[in-house]
Order: sequence, then C-alpha cells, then structure tokens
Amino acid sequence: MALWITDECINCDVCEPECPNDAISLGALIYEIDPGKCTECVGHFDEPQCVQVCPVSCIPVNPAFVETREQLLARFVRLHPGRTPAMTAAAASSASASLPAPAAADRPPDPPAPGARDASQHPPLPSLTAAAQG
Ligand code: SF4
Ligand code: SF4
Repeated sequence: MALWITDECINCDVCEPECPNDAISLGALIYEIDPGKCTECVGHFDEPQCVQVCPVSCIPVNPAFVETREQLLARFVRLHPGRTPAMTAAAASSASASLPAPAAADRPPDPPAPGARDASQHPPLPSLTAAAQG
C-alpha cells in the first residue's frame, strides 16, 4: 500500500526530504504523496521514513492502494533501475521464509556427544590386551 497524508498535516516540511523515492511534494494546501512513487520505503528501509518523522502522525496507509510487498519491490525496481534493494530486516526475514529447509545430506554431521569415544582413534593398548588374554 502507498501511504497518504491527511488534512491534519501542518506543512512542517519534515517528511519531504526524508522520502527516498521523491514521492512527497507540497500540494495545493498540504503535502501529498504520489502513490505511483511510494513504496512504503520497501527496498530502502524497514519502516516508512515519513511516518517516523511526522510530528503529528498524519500519514496512514492509503486504503485505495492495497499492494503486496512484491508489488512495492517491483515499483522500487522501476523507480531505481539497476539498483539492488537494501537487505533490510524485513527483506531478510521474507527471504529466509521462502528458502527450503536443507536436505539431511546437505547438513553438517552432528557433533559427538560429550564424552563419546572414537574407537578408530583410540585402539586398545597392546599391553593391556595381552594381559587380558594371559
Ligand atoms: S513511505 Fe517512504 S516512499 Fe512512501 S512517501 Fe513515505 S518516505 Fe516516501
Ligand atoms: S511531516 Fe507530517 S505534518 Fe509535516 S509536512 Fe509531512 S505530513 Fe505534514
């Protein structure tokens, strides 16, 4: 979803320079967000930067522009050709959630249990073996 600015805006001008997509501009009366440019900061930051700085909390989600994270990422790519989206915490979590679990054969072997003995590295001592046989 794109965000939008309600009429509670006090035209403080704080949000406009924070937008990484140049989606915010002064409209006829108050500041406005271009829904064709707003990615909710997806591709740049974990949180919408304008929302972070607005002193009167007048930037909610725009219900008229419901979009998935993939759609917002596609907009980022269109707005910034050739640029790689930032690996934010949200992006990392979404990427790891889509990765398949590794197959057993791909996993490293389990470490030995504490106190476990590897017989191949510790053959019986000859003297003790002979004593046991005699
Ligand atoms: S959410 Fe991000 S991209 Fe959208 S208007 Fe705010 S600062 Fe710009
Ligand atoms: S930060 Fe909030 S109050 Fe200030 S111009 Fe932006 S939307 Fe308006």
